[in-house]
Amino acid sequence: MQIQIQIPEKVNKIIRTLAAAGHEAYAVGGCVRDAVLGREPADWDITTSASPMEVKALFCRTIDTGIRHGTVTVMLGQEGFEVTTYRVDGTYEDCRHPKEVQFTKSLLEDLKRRDFTINAMAYNDAEGLVDAFDGTGDLEKGIIRCVGKAEERFTEDALRMMRAVRFSAQLGFSLEEQTRAAIGKLCGNLRRVSAERIQTELVKLLTSPHPERLREAWETGITRVVLPEFDRCMACEQNNPHHIYSVGEHTLHALAYIEADKVLRLTMLFHDFGKPEVKTTGPDGIDHFRRHPEVSEELAGKVLKRLKFDNETVRQVKKLVWCHDQHPALTPAGVRKALNWIGEDLFASYLKVQRADILAQNPAMQEPKFLALEKVEQIYKRIIREQNCITLKQLAVGGRDLMEAGFPAGPFLGEILQYLLELVLEEPERNQKEWLLGEAVRRYGRPPSPD
Ligand code: ATP
Ligand code: MG
Repeated sequence: MQIQIQIPEKVNKIIRTLAAAGHEAYAVGGCVRDAVLGREPADWDITTSASPMEVKALFCRTIDTGIRHGTVTVMLGQEGFEVTTYRVDGTYEDCRHPKEVQFTKSLLEDLKRRDFTINAMAYNDAEGLVDAFDGTGDLEKGIIRCVGKAEERFTEDALRMMRAVRFSAQLGFSLEEQTRAAIGKLCGNLRRVSAERIQTELVKLLTSPHPERLREAWETGITRVVLPEFDRCMACEQNNPHHIYSVGEHTLHALAYIEADKVLRLTMLFHDFGKPEVKTTGPDGIDHFRRHPEVSEELAGKVLKRLKFDNETVRQVKKLVWCHDQHPALTPAGVRKALNWIGEDLFASYLKVQRADILAQNPAMQEPKFLALEKVEQIYKRIIREQNCITLKQLAVGGRDLMEAGFPAGPFLGEILQYLLELVLEEPERNQKEWLLGEAVRRYGRPPSPD
């Protein structure tokens, strides 16, 4: 059957312009794969026989995106399209980067250097689909298969092994047998891949529709190299009435139970990482994991830094991991206190984390946990609606007010404010300047008069 793809008009315009000048040009790679699957491609890449200089000569506005690798971005209006000259990759150094690239006049050569059959298809309206490695067959079968010999392709570039698992998670596909076996054999080479590239693939895997396919990365040996802490979780059984899975399996389920947001998925990945370290078994044979949130938080920080995540992501994930197992008293004061230490910015996420965590625990024990969680949620919504004071910033007195009332400057003021905030967290009606100053005097004594 002839496969028809709807190419956006601007992409067609670029292809037609190149063709009119005597060059070949096709949409290629991920966009063709997604279009064949009936999904909306994120961006459209174009491959051409024209050299970068020839491409630049044909369009008014271009950017030299990666000119050494043959990539020019063509700007049409506000949109940019990457146009890359057909190329073959030279010899690879260190399982990472080709030492040099060579341009070629053969589309087939260009398709051959691509990682997977489903990513090695090209299309234009004049020629239709160019599918030299049966990418459409593999899309139908739902498999990720290397172009050519898997071992060679992974030896050239080790990152492709993580890409294989990432595409399997994004598309819900399985790894073709030889591709899988080659990963098992060569995953050690991932040690030489930069942390930034690993981070990108890990995030794409985790924020995909099938984050639980991290299991594939474990089965094939990838996590042993890039995330050995996870392998320890897979080996850590939980003989405890709250649980029915090992720590690792619980983690995989919890990942699937939370929305596809980077911080939330990373939090679920790390939330129990500390359990193997703190596990103790009681005389009754029941396993306990005391202090695991703190140890998990520490490990999360360590792993996120190792993978070069940005500070804000590290901060949010660490905080959520640390508080994932905190249970506020089911009273307005209890929830206000929880809001104070978790922070208003992360509280909604904290509730989502708890929900996913409970869903991945023993179903027989879930009901009371959900009832408590719903109660916290209700109270939380009311606190926000009523704009209760939950931070020092919202307190009706500040350091300046205390000094004006005669308290000497210094760190002591912080202690007083903290004390007053705790009174207000108990009862929000107390958040009035007069009353608070009176309380400060009652508790800490009348300040010396200024003269
Ligand atoms: P997405 O953009 O959704 O992550 P994609 O398939 O477009 O998926 P990109 O990383 O944008 O992936 O790469 C575009 C194309 O370039 C791929 O479809 C593939 O043909 C090729 N490619 C990318 N990285 C590699 C690699 N490491 N080895 C071989 N080919 C690659
Ligand atoms: Mg892409």
